[in-house]
Amino acid sequence: MVLSDPLEIDLAGFDALVVSPGVPLNRHPVAAKARAAGIPIIGDIELFAQARSSLPAHKVVGITGTNGKSTTTALVHHILQTAGVPSLMGGNIGLPILEQAPLPEGGVYVLELSSYQIDLTFSLDCDVAVLLNLTPDHLDRYDGFEGYAASKARLFAMQSKTHAAVIGIGDTPSALIARSLSARGEHLTKIAPGVCMDQSRWPSLQGPHNAQNALAAIAVAQALGVPEAMIDRGLESFAGLPHRMERVAVRNGVAFVNDSKATNPESTAPALAAFPRIHWILGGKAKSDDLDACAPSFGHVVHAYTIGDAAKPFAAILDGKLPVTVSGDLATAVTQAAANAQPGDTVLLSPACASFDQFRDFEDRGDQFRRIVEALA
Ligand code: ADP
Repeated sequence: MVLSDPLEIDLAGFDALVVSPGVPLNRHPVAAKARAAGIPIIGDIELFAQARSSLPAHKVVGITGTNGKSTTTALVHHILQTAGVPSLMGGNIGLPILEQAPLPEGGVYVLELSSYQIDLTFSLDCDVAVLLNLTPDHLDRYDGFEGYAASKARLFAMQSKTHAAVIGIGDTPSALIARSLSARGEHLTKIAPGVCMDQSRWPSLQGPHNAQNALAAIAVAQALGVPEAMIDRGLESFAGLPHRMERVAVRNGVAFVNDSKATNPESTAPALAAFPRIHWILGGKAKSDDLDACAPSFGHVVHAYTIGDAAKPFAAILDGKLPVTVSGDLATAVTQAAANAQPGDTVLLSPACASFDQFRDFEDRGDQFRRIVEALA
């Protein structure tokens, strides 16, 4: 139902224009129109920020970064739940924040914030703000990489100086933002890459990228005063998010991991880095004609099984580098991988491809993987 078209009506007298983060502000004519009328363009997170003073006493955690936002948001929420702190997740994950009932006093709102959402937010003073990493992404919406980085940096500019900042310094742009906040002293926690840590008791937080996510979540929980024992328990019991390196079963000592969300070689690379002996199921509708991003971890792959449209081209790329079987479809690949795997091995669906050749979407592909694994004799 169309109530009125914001491009047609006179915007004079409006307090603000509320848009979805999907609206490209750099190109959409409504942005120019609002600017000409002198009214701010905001999103639902800004509405939430403006409503905070009427809510019971609470804290807000804002989490941004190019990768790992959902995982870290879900992990912080899980640690808080484990510690008995009322919390809910909002922003880019789960239900929209304004659709959820307010938390009782002492609650923590954990918000996953894309850069688009930050662009529509002006007065969110996070008690803890997190930047995980910054790599080139969404550059169609920004004035180059610097514009994208500046968007993320605003999360900290909106904060009171005594509130906590947590920044992953594994890439130069994030490290520069951390350096610009050095005056925060003890209120700034830097997450350095390559910290040697024991992840063996965190089944759903494997791999170097999840070490970064876990360290960030630990820093957030510490800033919120969660006891260490509860943090440990939360890390150990975290189940992960569906379809992202999700351990769906362990059979005869073989772990079956669903990473169906990995739809390009860059997203598959962290999963290949995370396990020592992998039976790798890959293929589908390819987005690239190489697997270069995965190559550094080919040494972890015991055997590859290719499926879908990319089955033959991917097998040709891998041939001579590691043992590969053209399986064709997912059920065949899982059956072959399960038969070959030894105790301690991992059967990993991390396709490095879109799913649309054989599945409705990546969720359908991951759900089918789980069902096939459950049905194994
Ligand atoms: P986002 O919500 O930012 O898209 P997710 O937590 O959903 O991130 O993870 C998506 C994918 O990004 C994962 O499957 C993994 O391949 C990769 N990833 C997760 N965390 C990180 C990280 N800290 N650094 C780099 N890549 C990551």
